[in-house]
Amino acid sequence: MAKVITPRQEDYSRWYTDVIIQSQMADYSPVKGCMVIRPLGYALWEAIQRELDARFKETGHENAYFPLFIPESFLHKEAEHVAGFAPELAVVTHGGGKELEEALIVRPTSETIIYAMFAKWIRSYRDLPVLINQWANVVRWEMRTRLFLRTTEFLWQEGHTAHVSEAEAEEEALTILEIYRRFAEEHMAIPVYTGVKTESERFAGALRTYSIEALMQDKKALQAGTSHNLGQNFAKAFEVKYQTKDGTWEHVWSTSWGVSTRLVGALVMAHGDDNGVSFPPRLAPLQVVIVPIWKTDEEKSRIAEAARLAAEELKGACRVKVDLRDEVSPGWKFNEWELKGVPLRLEIGPRDLEKNQFTAVRRLDRRKTAVPRDGLLAHVGPLLEEIQADMLEKGRAFLRENTRDAKSYDELKRGLEETGGFFRAHWCGSADCEKRIKDETKATIRCIPLEGNREDGTCLRCNGASRRWVYFARSY
Ligand SMILES: [Zn+2]
Repeated sequence: MAKVITPRQEDYSRWYTDVIIQSQMADYSPVKGCMVIRPLGYALWEAIQRELDARFKETGHENAYFPLFIPESFLHKEAEHVAGFAPELAVVTHGGGKELEEALIVRPTSETIIYAMFAKWIRSYRDLPVLINQWANVVRWEMRTRLFLRTTEFLWQEGHTAHVSEAEAEEEALTILEIYRRFAEEHMAIPVYTGVKTESERFAGALRTYSIEALMQDKKALQAGTSHNLGQNFAKAFEVKYQTKDGTWEHVWSTSWGVSTRLVGALVMAHGDDNGVSFPPRLAPLQVVIVPIWKTDEEKSRIAEAARLAAEELKGACRVKVDLRDEVSPGWKFNEWELKGVPLRLEIGPRDLEKNQFTAVRRLDRRKTAVPRDGLLAHVGPLLEEIQADMLEKGRAFLRENTRDAKSYDELKRGLEETGGFFRAHWCGSADCEKRIKDETKATIRCIPLEGNREDGTCLRCNGASRRWVYFARSY
């Protein structure tokens, strides 16, 4: 029956593709580099959207929508920005059967078109701050693609804000970074490191880029979200000005920030195993599946009835489904729901019925517990929360065990080959050293922590003075 999933030990990359295809989260599309997100994958994206959207709104942001097409000239207004995106742009030259007077870019990100509108809308300090978010698709013509992690078209949210001062923009960028960090840990059960990107790794046109960095099971880092303080770069390029209280005109200070469907890939890579994907209860599209087990017809009617009643009781409090299919065996059902990542399975067979209980099995570790049928609801909620907490704890232990100090360049090189993971190491701050380390080891500086990393040392590569360590890792 089930197709074979390549074990992680054998080939992590093939395992990743296998579990996504076989759990039916996504499929390859007829257009190279694009993917079709199937209902299971899309339900996860919707859960991510729902949670993040609530947090954005709690912090004063509003959703809006800007067009997919951007006039080509807009991209040329910010020099670094166009240089950063030029190689991966999709360009529309014809529309309605005619060649267009000006080519249109399919948005790779929306800064340029949003700033053109901000310039129209913002006049006075009273109009600020502007706090906007957009849920949209974007296109970046990637040469090497992977389901969810890097696709030519992907879904994301992009926040764009305008402020009266640099301090306010900085506060906004850091507020969002914290929202991303907490979401990753509290909902995705994926602990992350946060910090600022080096100059060479920051967003094209930004003053500072902050990121959250997670560690996948193959010990490679994954950048899971970014928040940029754009300074006045885009405001100047698009003439976004406001009149101050004193009547003078100033450019606004702005930020942009985003997470994408890449987070779905992160969930798969962080929690999946050789049996399939595994989702944390808070985001799992289906949290509980009830599987009745019977042999005789007499058993069947009583057990199916108990399963249905339980589903009825749980509905409303959690996302639950009862699997009454006759044509497949209980074992087959167990495999299927494990493959699809349902965090909790409730089994009920003749012996359970006799004892007036369900056998609860956690997807995380297949740990079994008996749960009384009376007051089932009161038991399932805490069980789901316990799974959520245990998944985060497992992630924390993994991150801790795979974060090491590299005291010398040799130690870093050896560590990258032997264990992988994050390495705390000293770097002098020069772009030249950073580039050479990247060329020689394929590891990049994932981020410079904002605190807790001050100490005197010497740069791994040049032995120059360094006052703080940074995180190095190979990454996706
Ligand atoms: Zn150096």
